[in-house]
Amino acid sequence: MAELKRTRQRAAILRLLANAEGPLTAEELHAALRGEFPAAALSTVYRNLERFLQEGLAQKEDFRDGAARYTAAQGHGHYLVCTGCARRIRLTQCPLHGLEQELARGTGFTVESHSLTLYGKCPQCRAREENRGKKPGGA
Ligand SMILES: [Zn+2]
Ligand SMILES: [Zn+2]
Repeated sequence: MAELKRTRQRAAILRLLANAEGPLTAEELHAALRGEFPAAALSTVYRNLERFLQEGLAQKEDFRDGAARYTAAQGHGHYLVCTGCARRIRLTQCPLHGLEQELARGTGFTVESHSLTLYGKCPQCRAREENRGKKPGGA
């Protein structure tokens, strides 16, 4: 029975990742998982995340606030990630394929994979920052 529970928790974590609007921290995943499995331990979330990373089912992104966040792998893709709200936008194409071939030719290196994530502020967060920059108490 313990095995079945593990399997169901694993599936639930994957589903949470797949349905998330943006990258989630292990703590956020844990909080969401406990909606379904109130007794689920944070260590279970970490263990599954490690496994997902090894299996290529999830990706880990390190944010400048020091917290690692996880996303479901959706095949090959690159993202614009907002460091303010963690919103992410998938790029419609890979800008590196041409470079990869060029590098392979120039260096004899066989490129097996790459990752590229661009970090910045989304329009909403930028607007928020600009508003904060204005003098407080103004009209
Ligand atoms: Zn944002
Ligand atoms: Zn690429």
